[in-house]
Amino acid sequence: MLSLGNLPTTDVMREADLNSHMHPFTDHDALGTDDLRVITSASGVFIGDSDGNQILDGMAGLWCVNVGYGRSEIGEAAARQMAQLPYYNTFFKTTHPPVIALSEKLRVLTPDGINKFMFGTSGSDSNDTVIRLARTYWAGRGKPSKTVMISRHNAYHGSSMASASLGGMAFMHAQGGLPIPDVHHIGQPYWFDEGGDMDPAEFGLMRARELEAAIDQIGEDRVAAFIAEPIQGAGGVIVPPETYWPEIQRICDERDILLVADEVICGFGRLGTWFGSDHFNIRPDMIAMAKGLSSGYLPIGGVGLTDDVYEGVSQMGEFAHGYTYSGHPVSAAAAIANLDILEREGIVERVRSHTAPVFAEKFAALGDHPLVGEAVTCGLLGKLELVPDAKSGSRRRFENSGTVGGLCRDNCFANNLVMRAVRDSMVCSPPLIIKDDEIDALVERAWKALDLTAAAVAGQMA
Ligand SMILES: *Cc1c(COP(=O)(O)O)cnc(C)c1O
Repeated sequence: MLSLGNLPTTDVMREADLNSHMHPFTDHDALGTDDLRVITSASGVFIGDSDGNQILDGMAGLWCVNVGYGRSEIGEAAARQMAQLPYYNTFFKTTHPPVIALSEKLRVLTPDGINKFMFGTSGSDSNDTVIRLARTYWAGRGKPSKTVMISRHNAYHGSSMASASLGGMAFMHAQGGLPIPDVHHIGQPYWFDEGGDMDPAEFGLMRARELEAAIDQIGEDRVAAFIAEPIQGAGGVIVPPETYWPEIQRICDERDILLVADEVICGFGRLGTWFGSDHFNIRPDMIAMAKGLSSGYLPIGGVGLTDDVYEGVSQMGEFAHGYTYSGHPVSAAAAIANLDILEREGIVERVRSHTAPVFAEKFAALGDHPLVGEAVTCGLLGKLELVPDAKSGSRRRFENSGTVGGLCRDNCFANNLVMRAVRDSMVCSPPLIIKDDEIDALVERAWKALDLTAAAVAGQMA
């Protein structure tokens, strides 16, 4: 058996992995031993593999390592808490200092009106909690028929039965009998792919008004809530047109439904504000959090809610929901240490005033590459749309969606850069502490990967 103190060669580890480990979101038949990278260390914005490569992590892990790798004080806070009180639950009239301190801190940092916090261990279980809270809230307000959750096609809200149902990923619904009942999906504000001849502003309004139409069609007495990511992440870093969120907010204000912001990616500084809701002036009734809450150092997620939602749910007596690890003391201590770093180093403010503008300018240069139809950034999220005839300004896609994107992702990795491919979009979400020269390196490596990809595409077409 593999000993963590004395690692064998990469090949031995790859073989052992394939023997016993089943990976998330992976086609195991297509996974060859040569494909597996064994990541063994990390520091700052770089991850290190077992062959000694230093790879620039343009994805901050899975959109989560906001404060960067190697923050020993998070580990020290976790170790102190482990020694003091490694575990206790928060059911049955008990609590503990870390969960109290974290809740108090979140009350200050989260958007106005979000005052109460319920914890879990991930974004997926947070969104399961959202569904149960929303439906229980309406029951508590005497409207138990309001159970329908409206979400969007190509949204990502997690991988559990309920959160994947809430998400709008058709390929996920196709496995395991999803979606669950009373989830309805409307169109996404993805102008590049779906905007046709409309201008972005017009298209944004049209997509927002699908919410109004859906409420009318389903019946306002049936709809509990609308949930959305301020910017869709896993769906391909889809920055909505400027008209979209104000119109969604108007509709939610006029109609008797809850508005839920899934802040799992946008929360904790990603857009240069503490939350995506702050950036887009969204006034949510609930927010889902995970990822950047602990910068991924330990699993923790949670839901923030208004006093109104809290009181409505409380009308129903016991809210029969929670997890063994809700508010886990060690995860909570790590989250507090992470938030302390974000505050003390002024990281969110620095993203807004410095890093995001630098990133925007340098990343935009990738838009000149002949393979790139559009280069978009918002805060420290970036996205490149790969298309066959970018020069003509056409938004036409490659046939065999995902092939060119997959190739480009592999070329990035081969050049020691992690970027992710979503179909034929390349997406990027670096740690918030990325320095200017590291942004330069990211853009240089991405350009090189695009060149290699363009050459391969030309070769295939010849
Ligand atoms: C990652 C993600 C989730 C799911 O979080 P997990 O911790 O993987 O369960 C939910 N919502 C959004 C927007 C995400 O990006």
